[in-house]
Amino acid sequence: MDVTNSVDKRVKRLIISVDESKCVGCGKCIDACLTGALALINGKAKLVDETLCDGFGSCIAACRYNALRIEYKDALEFNWNILSNVSLNDWLNKLRKTAYKTSLEKHMNKSKFLLNLIVIS
Ligand code: SF4
Repeated sequence: MDVTNSVDKRVKRLIISVDESKCVGCGKCIDACLTGALALINGKAKLVDETLCDGFGSCIAACRYNALRIEYKDALEFNWNILSNVSLNDWLNKLRKTAYKTSLEKHMNKSKFLLNLIVIS
C-alpha cells in the first residue's frame, strides 16, 4: 500500500522534539510511537520523518528522562495515509501498554519515595 503524501506541504503544527542532552537512548519512546516516527541513531532518539509524527505524544508518556516535548512549529504535514497501515487493535494495545507502563512506573516511584520517607523518619 502506498503511504506517501501526495504533496509534502509545510504547515504550522504540533510535532515532537528531542532534547539529546537528556536522552539516554533507552528506546522506550520508539516502542511507544504508534506511527514509527522515531529511531535510535548513535544512541539518541531522533525524529526521522516529520510526516510520520502525529503530535499525539505517546512517546512523551514513555520517556522517564523528560527528553521529549511537543512544539508548535513549522513542519511537514502529517501523513494521514500511514494510519491505514495500523490496525485498531495494534493502536489500542500500544496505547494500553504505554499508559499502563507509565502509570505503573509513576506509582512505583511514588511508593519508593514514601518508603524512603518512612525509613528516614
Ligand atoms: S524514551 Fe526518552 S531517554 Fe529513552 S530513547 Fe526516548 S527520548 Fe531518549
